[in-house]
Amino acid sequence: MAKLTVRDLPVAGKRVFVRVDFNVPTDDKGAITDDTRIRAALPTIRYLRDQGAKVILASHFGRPKGKVVEEFRLTAVGRRLAELLGVPVLKLDDCVGPEVEAAVSAMKPGEVVLLENVRFYPGEEKNDPDFARKLAALADVFVNDAFGAAHRAHASTAGIAAYLPAVAGFLMEKEIGALGRLLERPERPFVAILGGAKVSDKIGVIENLLGKCDRLLVGGGMANTFLAARGLNLGQSLVELDKVGLAGELLARAGDKLVLPVDVVAAPAVDAAAPRKTVAVEALGATDKALDIGPATVARFEKEIAAARTIFWNGPMGVFEVEPFAAGTTAVARAVAASKGFSVVGGGDSIAAIEKAGVADRVGHISTGGGASLEFIEGKELPGVAALK
Ligand code: ADP
Ligand code: MG
Repeated sequence: MAKLTVRDLPVAGKRVFVRVDFNVPTDDKGAITDDTRIRAALPTIRYLRDQGAKVILASHFGRPKGKVVEEFRLTAVGRRLAELLGVPVLKLDDCVGPEVEAAVSAMKPGEVVLLENVRFYPGEEKNDPDFARKLAALADVFVNDAFGAAHRAHASTAGIAAYLPAVAGFLMEKEIGALGRLLERPERPFVAILGGAKVSDKIGVIENLLGKCDRLLVGGGMANTFLAARGLNLGQSLVELDKVGLAGELLARAGDKLVLPVDVVAAPAVDAAAPRKTVAVEALGATDKALDIGPATVARFEKEIAAARTIFWNGPMGVFEVEPFAAGTTAVARAVAASKGFSVVGGGDSIAAIEKAGVADRVGHISTGGGASLEFIEGKELPGVAALK
């Protein structure tokens, strides 16, 4: 799925509209708690500045639902970006209209403008052609670097590409390269590890991976539904009763490709103070909740991961937010990091777990796009990617 990138077009002196994903997490005072997404866009912005482009940045932020909501302004983001870039960033209070047009026509090569939140207009999420055309009128070239928003067909991610030459930024290029490598030409064995709370969130991912990988290791809450499909008693564990039938079908189809936990850490409550025990999956009692994979499962998973040449991991192996139930997730994080194979980790909680384990720098690729990465792994075409040349 080769896409043209920002390297493939002359941009010197041009107005370049760059869709970034600056939808950063903030605390209740509006302070940015994690600027990873801003940092991830810096290589593209720096390249464009170096080439003498006029850089016009656009992003969504939060869910203002088509109107101006003060708390979703990008002002703090603009300030952080200026700090990280080390050059001034002119933050505008709108993303279309005469004031924006005037500011853009006053830009000199190398300058950076940040438009206001595109979701202040209902046309953004509706992918309204009129709104897309207004955005496009600000620029000569469209660069999409917002992989995290590429699964949405919105005006600034997809619609705008109808009016401007549309190419990928470096982050977009890296993401589709890494995720595409998993699906298109994985070195074998390809081991996928899936966890998290629910099977229902990731049915499409499981189905597509089963056709691509050599082993699918399943942990976390989603393993419970598979264990229930095997007829086991899960006590008070999280089980999606309406997905037990589907889990049974997937198990039958997968055969020994799909590996389930053999033991778990269980407690009567998700509480660090609750009495815990490690038991075989067949031995869960009526009041038990399975909250982490157990040591025998960890050993099995570690063996599979150590043998892998390609790894994809999404979803923690247990309720890792509560320390006594984090061991399985931490062990998997370390095993993935220790692998000499090519590894990709995606998903907000999985990335948090990899960072908590202190091994993020030893993973091949950490995908910045939660929902977008999963839709990509499902094998879906992402509108923001499809729109690029
Ligand atoms: P990601 O953000 O990496 O895609 P998910 O959001 O799908 O991951 O899943 C993360 C959540 O799954 C965490 O909040 C974690 O507590 C929960 N979880 C994992 N294992 C269990 C379990 N055994 N029982 C209940 N919840 C679980
Ligand atoms: Mg999550």
